[in-house]
Amino acid sequence: MIRAHLAALHERERRRYVETHPRSVALAGQDARHYLFGVPLHWMRDWPTPATLHVARAEGHRLWCADGHAYLDFCLGDSGAMFGHSPAPVARAIAEQAQHGLTAMLPSTLAAEVGQRLAHCFGLPRWQLTLSASDANRFVLRWARAVTRRPKVLVFDGCYHGTVDDTLVDGDAQGRTLTRASLLGQVHDLALGSVVVPFNDIAAVERALAGGDVACVLSEPALTNCGLVPPLPDFLAQLQAACRRHGTLLALDETHTLSSGWGGQARGEGLVPDFLVVGKAIAGGLPCAVYGFTEEMNARMEAAKRAAPDGHSGIGTTLSANLLAMAALHASLGELVTPETYAPMLASAAAIESRLRETLAQAGMPWSVTRLGARMELQFCTRPPRDAGEARAAMDDELERALHLWLLNRGVLVTPFHNMLLVAPTMSAEQAQPLVAALAEFLAALRG
Ligand code: PMP
Repeated sequence: MIRAHLAALHERERRRYVETHPRSVALAGQDARHYLFGVPLHWMRDWPTPATLHVARAEGHRLWCADGHAYLDFCLGDSGAMFGHSPAPVARAIAEQAQHGLTAMLPSTLAAEVGQRLAHCFGLPRWQLTLSASDANRFVLRWARAVTRRPKVLVFDGCYHGTVDDTLVDGDAQGRTLTRASLLGQVHDLALGSVVVPFNDIAAVERALAGGDVACVLSEPALTNCGLVPPLPDFLAQLQAACRRHGTLLALDETHTLSSGWGGQARGEGLVPDFLVVGKAIAGGLPCAVYGFTEEMNARMEAAKRAAPDGHSGIGTTLSANLLAMAALHASLGELVTPETYAPMLASAAAIESRLRETLAQAGMPWSVTRLGARMELQFCTRPPRDAGEARAAMDDELERALHLWLLNRGVLVTPFHNMLLVAPTMSAEQAQPLVAALAEFLAALRG
């Protein structure tokens, strides 16, 4: 039933986009002369539009394109703008700091307060700053190997932690770890230093840790990059206990699950990981990420550094913790990443989730909506997947691209990777009604 109408519907939407976005089409033509694949970051071609949408400006949960159309933005820069575009406290802090130095390779006078705010929010005492979540994860893995003197890291099938070699591995049907086939320019066999097991499979974790050679488990508290795979009720507590038993460190990457609530999902579930990573939205959208750790880890990290010969540690980049990022982080932690911001954001998201579910039920469409606080995922399956295998089985590229383009043509932006929707704190459930209406129309159009 769906297939019969999908191709024609998709083609109509492609034509509609080209007709209604002449300026974006023209700009894409100009970009094509100077950029790889015609875009400044090659993933920007992953959007379903025939020519790349160009942004004129963005504010709160709204974005305006070069052709003057307004969009409700549920992509929010794939989480970088989770708290809305150009949040006022961060915009003010950036403008102010811009007059007084951008980078100095020294801490600013705000550093102490930022440290206190991070500890207060996430419950870990010690911190380091980086420019991206990829960097933070990469450095956490290096520290974990340095302090444990173990060679391997364990990640879950379907994970994404940024461009971190050790994590770019997949599991095969026989349970083996393979270098991710899509990687470009890969020389080393990543399976030599990484182990992959299915998420929510504590027995597989136990087996992998039993050899005593795994330095660190790196995981999101829920997988958010292959659709959304929530943890089974006891899985994270069991994971933490297994790590402790085997002398393996636990690093939780809360870059996306920061959507769950103030302090992240791990804190909400009473977990105390050895390392915690938060990137993307933590400084309100300015490039900045942080990783936190326990006092015990701090002592072991300092000992490892002191024991090493002088020279490059392989950890850190020149612009990490620069003055501008510190000012943005200070404002963000003080006025944005606060319980007061989360309360309305989670309430709106819950109301939107109900409306989406009603819409699916009314259309008789057996798809699921799974929510982690302000983050929601529409999945083409009846219940949330338990691991990446189930999540992949529910994916349908053609359907997804047609849906995304349909929504975009009706003023609704969703992330081009799977069906993720993020609800900014400024958005009310009523303001999200165009999303619900456009989904209902799409489902009707699919029936023909
Ligand atoms: N961790 C997680 C959970 C992510 O989803 C991502 C990116 N999607 C990253 C880390 C990497 O973030 P960045 O690309 O900003 O380095």
